[in-house]
Amino acid sequence: MDERFLLVVFDGLRPDLLRPDTTPNLLRLAAIGTRFARARSVFPSETRVCSATVTTGCMPRRHGLVANRLAHPGDAAIAGPAGRSVDTGQIANLLELEQELGEPLLDMPSLGARLAAVGRDFAVLSSGTTGQSHVLNPTAAALGQITLSAHGAQACSPKGAALLATLDPPPADPTGRAEWIADVFRTRFLPNPPATTILWLCEPDTSGHYAGLGSDANLAALRRVDEAFGRILDDWQAGPMADRLTIMAASDHGHATITGTVNMAPLFAAEPGFAGCRLLPGASGGVVVPGGAAVVISDVAAWLTRQDWIGQVFAADGADLPPGVLPRSAVLVDHRRTAEVLFTLRAGPAPSLLGLPGVTLNDGALPIGGGTHGGLTAAEMSIVMLLAGPRIARGQLSEWPAGLADIAPTALALLGIDGGAMLDGRVLVEALEPPAKPEAAPAPESWEAGHDTYRQRLSRTRLGRHAYINMAQRD
Ligand SMILES: [Zn+2]
Repeated sequence: MDERFLLVVFDGLRPDLLRPDTTPNLLRLAAIGTRFARARSVFPSETRVCSATVTTGCMPRRHGLVANRLAHPGDAAIAGPAGRSVDTGQIANLLELEQELGEPLLDMPSLGARLAAVGRDFAVLSSGTTGQSHVLNPTAAALGQITLSAHGAQACSPKGAALLATLDPPPADPTGRAEWIADVFRTRFLPNPPATTILWLCEPDTSGHYAGLGSDANLAALRRVDEAFGRILDDWQAGPMADRLTIMAASDHGHATITGTVNMAPLFAAEPGFAGCRLLPGASGGVVVPGGAAVVISDVAAWLTRQDWIGQVFAADGADLPPGVLPRSAVLVDHRRTAEVLFTLRAGPAPSLLGLPGVTLNDGALPIGGGTHGGLTAAEMSIVMLLAGPRIARGQLSEWPAGLADIAPTALALLGIDGGAMLDGRVLVEALEPPAKPEAAPAPESWEAGHDTYRQRLSRTRLGRHAYINMAQRD
């Protein structure tokens, strides 16, 4: 059998925006395949963290790309705010980081590396940021694989740049770029696609951030990328790949609506005991504690739980966790590159003005009424996952837990390639024909910690050795 796999990611698409009027083509895929009703993102629910999880089949604690803005590992011993941080959205920053550290960006092999090892090909086509497309296949150039970015040749692998030179130039607007990259897949790849392709569309994320979730502009962008996806489905169903290509459509994270802003830097800087620490601000952020001093970790975490704008607070395992603080390992992001203290800003399930549940505070330039993600609300952690193809159960709604780390092992299994069993994710056997039951039954897991003015809860689901983070909430 000559099986192929295509993953199409609609960045930032919330499952509740899958509707007949906005995404008829995604619903068409769902109708002929399996829809995962309990699919989850990872923490932090940020695009590059999610991208690394997709391509490695591993959780952030194992692949090591633990935040969109990473504390520079080379500055781990520098006390105070002077240490650098790395914006992983820019490929130049990632290449510089890899060179300076002399180590791979990801601790685990990408799908590209796994496929190259068995002589199969792999391609990334993305209208996401230049850093995002690089994270999906950091060794594309060395492996001779195609990475094609809608941001131009500087973000393409040599083979991708050669292809780009033969194409009409991509438009400048995000939705236009997403349509462009989808049409490049349809016209240039779909007739005879690589063993695996990841097609990453930057919408509806960009319009969600700036115009607001469920706004006219957000829904218009979503309709346009869904139509571009529909053209791929048309050609797939009518062409020779109908009985060979399996298609997964997914989102990397959801979104919550921003209802207020916090400027955390001056508040943090005013605490004399934290002068040696470095704040990485955001709706989901961290505090680097040079040397990992347990007393300082504990003081910072305790201070955070006393702020009325704080959501979740996690601290490095091994530190003396003060009341209210949960261990970093509970959210599967404990790694040598992870800040010693992690937090999210206050968030909850209340509806936005446009009626979509999930609101949050933010620290940054995004407008109130816009969308953001990175945190642990159900609105951010719930994702779209649909799978359809010649070997996939049709018209099925799966209630089994599923997540981003399951995509790579499932793709490898469909291609008949070994290695998936060593990953954090699992093969989604319940969706394959004939459907089988996963080996274990789902078991709920919950954490709770608090003191007189603060209480937080975290919900996960365990399925054998696999753990899925459902959501967390401050009471
Ligand atoms: Zn994203």
